Amino acid sequence: MPGSAGPLKMLPIQLLRKVSLFQGLSDSQLESIIELCTEETYGAGELIVQEGEPAKNLYIVREGKVALEMSVRLWPEQRLREMRVETLNAGQPVGLSALTASNVWTMSARAIDRCRLIAIPGKSLLQLMDSDPVMASEVNRELSSVLADRLRYTRISLTEYLGHRQVAREEAPEESTAIRRIQYGINFRWIAVVGVVLITLTANLIFGISFSTVPILIIAVIIALYNLAFWRYTERLESEEDAELIPKVRRYVWVQSATDLVATTAIIHFAGGVENPLYLYYVFHVILASIILPYRSAYLLATFAVGLFTSLVSLEYLGLIPHVHLEGLVPPDLYRQPPYVLAVLFGFGTTLYISTYLTTAIAGELRKRQRETAALRDRLLVEAEELQKANAELVRLDRLKTYFLAMASHDLKTPLAAVQSYLQVLLGGFVGDLDEDHQRILERCSQRIRELFDLINRFLDLAQIEKGKVVEDMDMISIQEVIECCAEEIGVLAAEKSQTLDVDLPVDLPKIYGSEKHLKQAVTNLLSNSVKYTPEKGQITVCARRTDDQVEVEVCDTGQGIDPDDLPFVFDQFYRGKGGDAAHGTGLGLSIVKRIIEAHQGKIWAESPYAGGQPGSRFVFTLPVGQPAGLKVFGD
Ligand code: ADP
Repeated sequence: MPGSAGPLKMLPIQLLRKVSLFQGLSDSQLESIIELCTEETYGAGELIVQEGEPAKNLYIVREGKVALEMSVRLWPEQRLREMRVETLNAGQPVGLSALTASNVWTMSARAIDRCRLIAIPGKSLLQLMDSDPVMASEVNRELSSVLADRLRYTRISLTEYLGHRQVAREEAPEESTAIRRIQYGINFRWIAVVGVVLITLTANLIFGISFSTVPILIIAVIIALYNLAFWRYTERLESEEDAELIPKVRRYVWVQSATDLVATTAIIHFAGGVENPLYLYYVFHVILASIILPYRSAYLLATFAVGLFTSLVSLEYLGLIPHVHLEGLVPPDLYRQPPYVLAVLFGFGTTLYISTYLTTAIAGELRKRQRETAALRDRLLVEAEELQKANAELVRLDRLKTYFLAMASHDLKTPLAAVQSYLQVLLGGFVGDLDEDHQRILERCSQRIRELFDLINRFLDLAQIEKGKVVEDMDMISIQEVIECCAEEIGVLAAEKSQTLDVDLPVDLPKIYGSEKHLKQAVTNLLSNSVKYTPEKGQITVCARRTDDQVEVEVCDTGQGIDPDDLPFVFDQFYRGKGGDAAHGTGLGLSIVKRIIEAHQGKIWAESPYAGGQPGSRFVFTLPVGQPAGLKVFGD
């Protein structure tokens, strides 16, 4: 039900003029339509017009989106599905059936989000059009063009829908193979015709079994003729796109099987009745039908076969129809010997039912498996679709993140740089002398801004590394040069604290596959931490060695060390250890190092105290030698 309805006095003419249906109407004509308008609101998912029921109101979408939907049933047993034909936006008309004859085609209209609609009662609008033929001709002209458009969209949507894998999903597997199985049956019948002719002639001419071959040969011709008809019909059936195809195929199999059974009975009759051991050929028909038909139909057919044969044998036994004796094969009165006749009928009946049971059971099992496979395929399709959606969402979020990073780096750093340069101007005394207090406060400000810069830079670094920049940047590089370069840079800082920085590198250190820029960043972070957390005159050592198929790099210091409680967390983002409080920092340095090393498929760990009970800290990371397989880009 609509959320609210009320008269619309204030509806501007301009709004109606934009509606395609009312184009070409004069202001006074539009005003007379406005008189009829009310407003209705619908919540997301609410039905506005129901398919199959002509709309009472013509609606114009004022706000929100409306979906035009049609019910589609792909196969007789399948449930109806709503197919979206078109999405309508503001200004577009809904419920055209309010203006057309009631039997003209209708579609469901459903609010996609919260919608405001202008409602014009169809009857009143039609009356208005009756009284104003100019208006009627204008509106009808536009109406037919909108209707034509809708039909065109419907056709496009239907074609897409049917071409889409939905069809593949909904088609039961046995349905797709039913026609192929009928073709097997037809081929089998050709062989049977030839077989009947050959067996008849062989028995008669070669083995000297005397019986009249003419009726049997006539029946063989009849079978060939009706098989020809079946063959033609099957070809037509195959090219048909009929929703009722499967029930049709089943009925058709029934007719074929029943015809075959009657023909077989006729042949058996003219070829000796119960005397002829080939009566067991009935089994073939029953097996073939049991493969295609449902259980019940298969048993019904088996019963029909038993009935036909029993009737034939009984009628011959009772002398109601003539009996053909196979002279030279069996004694003449065999068909009148009750024990023999009963034994044959018993054997025949049980053979048929057991064959039906076995075949339907196996065919049923196969059908079940086919359905399970199809269901599995459906599920995979759905999951693949969901994964695709999730992936698209991730790509969107990644773009958003890139945008945010670009924005953050520009919008945060630019004003900070400006403030910093103003502070430098003040501190440099370029705008006059500062007293001591002012100088101290401004220096603190400057220091704080440097820290903030540092934080922003590290934060952006961390995000950049996540973006897979490390992997993109990789090449064969010398880790030795990386370490030496970093040690040279940090050596200046160490010297300021009178610390010794030793570099111990073997000459045969192999090249590695990595990002020079990022590895420099990692080693610099580790070394600058050591400088930071080691008191004056302390010792810092950086060394590297090759172990098996990797290079191990180690940064140790004789500093304050890491508290055992902090040790497991020092690589976490924003984690600052107890010992870190005294020094300035962001808690991001080590997490950046970890990301860089892991992007290289290496490992990193910290020890404190380290080997031999040394008091300081030791950071070790490994890097594979050569290009590791399956290097992953973060965020991919
Ligand atoms: P920050 O140094 O900015 O605090 P880091 O991520 O680089 O952040 O380090 C995290 C914490 O690990 C530091 O707060 C400190 O407690 C500890 N730490 C890192 N390197 C050392 C070191 N060489 N010696 C002692 N503690 C260290």
